[in-house]
Amino acid sequence: MLTAVVGINWGDEGKGRMVDLLSERYDIVCRYQGGNNAGHTVVNERGKFILNLLPSGILRDETVNVMGPGMVIDTEHLFHEVERLREGGIQITPRHLKISDRATICMPYHKLLDCLEEDRLADKKFGSTRRGIAPVYADKYMKKTLRMGDLRHPELLREKLEGILEWKNLTVHNGYGHEPLQVEEMLNWLETYAMAFREYVCDTTIFLNDAIKAGKSVMFEAQLGALRDIDFGIYPFTSSSSTIAAYAPIGAGIPNQKLDESIGIIKAYSSCVGEGPFTCELFGPKGDELREAGGEYGAATGRPRRVGGFDVVASRYGTLMQSATCLALTKMDVLSYLDQIPVCVAYEVNGQRIDYFPTGLELTEAKPIYEYFKGWKCDISGCKTKEELPQAALDYIAFVEKAVGCPIKYISVGPEREQYIEMF
Ligand code: GDP
Repeated sequence: MLTAVVGINWGDEGKGRMVDLLSERYDIVCRYQGGNNAGHTVVNERGKFILNLLPSGILRDETVNVMGPGMVIDTEHLFHEVERLREGGIQITPRHLKISDRATICMPYHKLLDCLEEDRLADKKFGSTRRGIAPVYADKYMKKTLRMGDLRHPELLREKLEGILEWKNLTVHNGYGHEPLQVEEMLNWLETYAMAFREYVCDTTIFLNDAIKAGKSVMFEAQLGALRDIDFGIYPFTSSSSTIAAYAPIGAGIPNQKLDESIGIIKAYSSCVGEGPFTCELFGPKGDELREAGGEYGAATGRPRRVGGFDVVASRYGTLMQSATCLALTKMDVLSYLDQIPVCVAYEVNGQRIDYFPTGLELTEAKPIYEYFKGWKCDISGCKTKEELPQAALDYIAFVEKAVGCPIKYISVGPEREQYIEMF
């Protein structure tokens, strides 16, 4: 069984808790895109863990975790993430973690460039997480980066870095006026933070194909959501990688394999970090209350997230882009305080009601059309079965299902592993 678990919205849908829950059913959990620019928060019996780079299966001793070729890996961040988990009693060995030799290393100068550019933009800031993700993906496509496999040949690193840094300094030094990057400094950084992962590096294409042939099941874990996909998201306010399910086998290193299932994680309301069009946004006390109720602050950055009601237009588009075969509706419990639940049912553009998700100027100018649904006004965080849910909650679920055109298999009613309902 090959299953992708992906975000339907703008990210932060609660993928981490769903992957943690579902990963028990899979032998291998694989990250296939992105870097440490977002975070999963997983709460289980061992504690609360924030994972930025490691696949969520790392919290289960028996699961093998793969970081695929589509990822960009800041090994300094990984080094600290691994340290923190080990302090929490999590085992991480080359048996638990396999890192693709084709994955790209996110170097300190990628972070530096991210900051230099964000500072240059000043009040026109883009809202980058400043983790170097856009610069490192840009370099990947310029074919001027180090890959994890390069760590296996330390004798070649100096020469490779000399070539790369000579080119990079044209931007860092000559362009931004920053002091030039030094080869020695980068070699030291690699020695301190990257070499430790040498024994984890392998050809994940061979590993995964062999495992699948032997009958192992694989879960592909996405970071961010459909609306942050570089091609299909709210460009340019997207991530720099492909967040959609169709990319999962490619980014994992097995483009020869086909997905059996795509589980879309969809949130009962909307949230969005950073700049860009967010049509369903709620402002003032309505927004503040929802942000507080949902604890909507970035896992990686602590930034307050923008919030809004469930967005039918964006979610239907996200569900389609993710080719979702079923959905998990998360954070239902957060809505329990509302008398009336706001839902953005359509957009208005140039005085016209539209129900497709637009791009460019149309999206920027779109206004939300809101309708209100009856709230349930009671605590549902202890519900374990469909029968225990109040009728108003069941009506809301049925509405979402119909509106986006995909069955909802799971309802998450709290952050803890067992706080969920399996609907069928
Ligand atoms: P991800 O990037 O999609 O994994 O999302 P995050 O981990 O950044 O955000 C999800 C946040 O919501 C975390 O703090 C989770 O512990 C929490 N969470 C996930 N599912 C639920 C839920 O059903 N109810 C509540 N109250 N919190 C949840």
